[in-house]
Amino acid sequence: MIEIVSRERCITCDKCVEVCPTGVFDLGPDGVPVIARQVDCQTCFMCEAYCPADALYVAPQAHPLPEAPDEADLARRGLLGSYREQIGWGHGRTPGARLAIGPALPSSSNVIIS
Ligand code: SF4
Ligand code: SF4
Repeated sequence: MIEIVSRERCITCDKCVEVCPTGVFDLGPDGVPVIARQVDCQTCFMCEAYCPADALYVAPQAHPLPEAPDEADLARRGLLGSYREQIGWGHGRTPGARLAIGPALPSSSNVIIS
């Protein structure tokens, strides 16, 4: 469930507000999104995946944590934006789809289109 929007890191691009399927965020007066409806979070990680500034932390638990996590500690452990990193989104990363395990895809010259 969404736990943190880092005010320090956020660049007010609104991407998280746009992609959240359940409208969890409201825009704050300064443009930094605020978590307005945490109980509506579906733990889908889309906001974290799309955030270009690694400013969000979605905890894997499907319920609010008993205590708000410490942002500095999360940053130190590399957990802010870690979902985006894991799926290979972001400049200089390899998209996870390229690393998927399965049969090798045929090269385009071997594909027969009927
Ligand atoms: S994890 Fe999904 S449902 Fe929760 S705030 Fe982010 S985008 Fe919205
Ligand atoms: S996607 Fe990230 S940088 Fe953009 S508004 Fe949301 S928290 Fe801020």
